[in-house]
Amino acid sequence: MTTDCIFCKIINGNIPAKTIYEDDDVIVFNDIKPMAKIHFMIVPKLHLESLKGCDATHQSLLGKMLLLAPKLAEKQGLKGFKTLINTGREGGQEVFHIHVHVYGGGLPDA
Ligand code: AMP
Ligand code: ZN
Repeated sequence: MTTDCIFCKIINGNIPAKTIYEDDDVIVFNDIKPMAKIHFMIVPKLHLESLKGCDATHQSLLGKMLLLAPKLAEKQGLKGFKTLINTGREGGQEVFHIHVHVYGGGLPDA
């Protein structure tokens, strides 16, 4: 847990989120500013800043996150979806707690 990390605060229940899945390792919640009709993020409970800081010890956690994407996308009614992992400020990362975006279903309703 990093005290000023917004995703750690969501994991600890200090900030509300629309959680669609949770287990011992990950939490999945809807993005507050959706880029598509369905847009959720797969977030490990372990605070890892970005893909850049990951190593072989994180292999199974990262694999688990990726394998959850199609399962949760299907549950949300998506036949296909996009995934995105922004890495580093120059890679568009705004929240420095690694997460996989999953989105689809067309543009969000205005
Ligand atoms: P990234 O640019 O990949 O770091 O994405 C961070 C994402 O987190 C953005 O799409 C934000 O809309 C989203 N976000 C920030 N704060 C919250 C929050 N409190 N609940 C849900 N999503 C959030
Ligand atoms: Zn964190």
